[in-house]
Amino acid sequence: LTRIVLASRPDGAPVASDFRIETHPLPEPGPGEVVVRVLYLSLDPYMRGRMSDAKSYAEPVALGGVMVGETVAEVVRSTVAQFATGDVVRCQGGWQSHAVLPADHLARVDPALGPVSTALGVLGMPGFTAWVGLDRIGQPQAGETLVVAAATGPVGATVGQVARLRGARSVGIAGGARKCAALIEEFGFDAAVDHRDPHFPEKLAAACPKGIDVYFENVGGAVFDAVLPLLNPFARVPVCGVVATYNARTGERAGPDRLAGAMGAILRRRLTVRGFIVYDFRDRHDAFLAEMAAWVRNGDVRTREDVVDGLERAPEAFIGMLEGRNFGKLLIRP
Ligand code: NDP
Repeated sequence: LTRIVLASRPDGAPVASDFRIETHPLPEPGPGEVVVRVLYLSLDPYMRGRMSDAKSYAEPVALGGVMVGETVAEVVRSTVAQFATGDVVRCQGGWQSHAVLPADHLARVDPALGPVSTALGVLGMPGFTAWVGLDRIGQPQAGETLVVAAATGPVGATVGQVARLRGARSVGIAGGARKCAALIEEFGFDAAVDHRDPHFPEKLAAACPKGIDVYFENVGGAVFDAVLPLLNPFARVPVCGVVATYNARTGERAGPDRLAGAMGAILRRRLTVRGFIVYDFRDRHDAFLAEMAAWVRNGDVRTREDVVDGLERAPEAFIGMLEGRNFGKLLIRP
């Protein structure tokens, strides 16, 4: 069994030496446990938060502990009747080649819904995040304008496509020309804007001639600064993530404090700004899966995966994702 553990807590952007690779004998399963071999490990921005011991909605990874992560895995040994060798499951396998888990922590993956890797992307946690953030908070209406950044990632790409299926106009923000072209050609966005363009705020304004009714917040930082003046009265802002700030050093602030101005805008324009964590809405999961699986099957929602081979490459792939080097849902094939 190969695994990657947290060697030190980063201050600022993580570096390779914050991770350590270890090899151990595969443990025997206890009663009620199952041994799985990881087929795909999902790398997600939230893992940067787990590397830090700052107070958050989830416990940090312990120093020397296995990095957490959701996986799609194959059962290789089972002590229970519910799972047999060869079954494909979704589980918290972590950054490991194999894991020994209680059988009641495994969820069966239905291969009829699509390639099993999609259980970590559009049909899994990121897809559900996109769908439920729109369903519960963003609520795009026909003819409205929606803006989302990190728009080629699994959350952003799904947000833009679902909003269009609800009749809205979707404007995507991404880093670089290649990603912006994919927004239009692959994902069917109505417009794409590169946040690295020196004239990004003006270009975003030009792409949103009727203002912004829904801003699905994935990144924060300079993108939010450009969006705020364009928000229409009664606009909705589901606050899903602020990836631009995840690598901030302890105590660091990006520029002067603009909170008072933002609060004034929220008041005068009667904005709804609401943070959410996908697990707040478990009761909507079945409705999500039914609708999204149908859209993926008939091609209404398209997905892109960035698959990296080799568990030992997980740290560099993760570090790269926080800087935008991934192109699509980032997965490790150990
Ligand atoms: P992505 O695959 O989209 O990866 C993150 C992307 O963020 C990068 O590829 C990069 O894209 C973009 N990015 C990084 N830094 C900046 C920056 N300074 N300015 C603008 N863009 C930047 O990730 P996911 O789709 O998995 O996640 C998207 C967001 O959703 C994250 O904030 C994540 O934390 C959040 N999330 C929240 C959940 C919740 O329950 N609230 C659940 C799941 C995800 P580019 O090259 O285009 O800049």
